Amino acid sequence: MIAERAKKVKPSPTLAVDSKAKELKAKGFDVVNFGVGEPDFDTPEHIKEAAIKAIRDGFTKYTPVGGIDELKEAIIEKLERDNGLKYGKENILVSCGAKHSLYNIAQALFGPGDEVIIPSPYWVSYPDQVLINDAQPVIVETKEENDFMVEPDALKEKITPRTKAIIINSPSNPTGFIYTKKALEEIAEIALKNNIYIISDEIYEKLIYDGEKHISIASLSEEVKERTIVVNGLSKSHAMTGWRIGYAAGPVEIIKTMTKIQSQSTSNPTSIAQKAAVAALKGPQDCVEKMRQEFEKRRDYLVKELNNIAGVSCRMPKGAFYVFPNVNKVLGKNGINSSMDLSIYLLEKAFVALVPGSAFGTEGYIRISYATSMENLAKGIERIRKSLEELR
Ligand SMILES: *Cc1c(COP(=O)(O)O)cnc(C)c1O
Repeated sequence: MIAERAKKVKPSPTLAVDSKAKELKAKGFDVVNFGVGEPDFDTPEHIKEAAIKAIRDGFTKYTPVGGIDELKEAIIEKLERDNGLKYGKENILVSCGAKHSLYNIAQALFGPGDEVIIPSPYWVSYPDQVLINDAQPVIVETKEENDFMVEPDALKEKITPRTKAIIINSPSNPTGFIYTKKALEEIAEIALKNNIYIISDEIYEKLIYDGEKHISIASLSEEVKERTIVVNGLSKSHAMTGWRIGYAAGPVEIIKTMTKIQSQSTSNPTSIAQKAAVAALKGPQDCVEKMRQEFEKRRDYLVKELNNIAGVSCRMPKGAFYVFPNVNKVLGKNGINSSMDLSIYLLEKAFVALVPGSAFGTEGYIRISYATSMENLAKGIERIRKSLEELR
């Protein structure tokens, strides 16, 4: 029979909307997809060329489990240049995507009796990766008025002698907000005082707007760095979701354990994709900036349009490619009582697919992804406006 541990993992709550969207599409309906979690841009040409060259050169065999030296060196350079973090090769593990790095961390650190603090709204995989390792996710709610940053007092309340770690994500999926330096300092202080690890998911680092700057919590001090595992990858920054390259940087003991675990599961990430990742990190970065500028334009448009819809209010997020509008004033009408009801209504009525806030642990909001063309944004927004106006 199926293991108890595996039974604790829930199927993704977004699946209900997603499978319905696919069903409607298959029937020939023109569905606008605001549910996507990946850049709509193609992988830049020089990165593809590096992969093709790797194939032609016969770079198609096993590599060291934790990644080739050339890639680790490119990651080390990046972490120093962009984040002011100094690491050696023994502090780096390359995995099959940032999600895989996070999974390896969970396997290395979490076990029965451990509690892991996760601020909500959260990325859907965090609680389940904790659960599958027989540990307990402890959700701490955040407030829209505070840009969805976890507040020190709320965090302190959740800490017990069993607390092992906190997972933070800035810029955030699903809210798009980023942590201020002050908020990071407060979290770091609490983490150090209570001896808990900080897992910092920085996958949207390159997608930040309004001239704001990304701050890695590990860069606050050497002490904080010693308690932090930084997770990052190429998926969002270089439009490389399908290549599956992500990485973790942290204390030697933890990285060594994660590498051992990876050696018994996937072994190395794809050899060819590693060469592509070297080209992505060491090559020209103007492609990253071009995509960022396009995302910023879409965000500005989308937030303005959403705020013109009665019952919807949307604060301006600072990063990633999502907005997380407040729809509480719409709920309660026409038997639509939850963000899931609203998502299903908008799909069936307006043929717009999006993800309910409840999927991220927060009711009263919806997540709209703007990893789609301006034309699609305009079309989807117009349809949402019309369908919401019909609610009484
Ligand atoms: C997309 C995403 C990831 C995973 O990225 P991969 O490198 O493709 O595995 C991790 N965290 C968050 C918050 C994401 O949105």
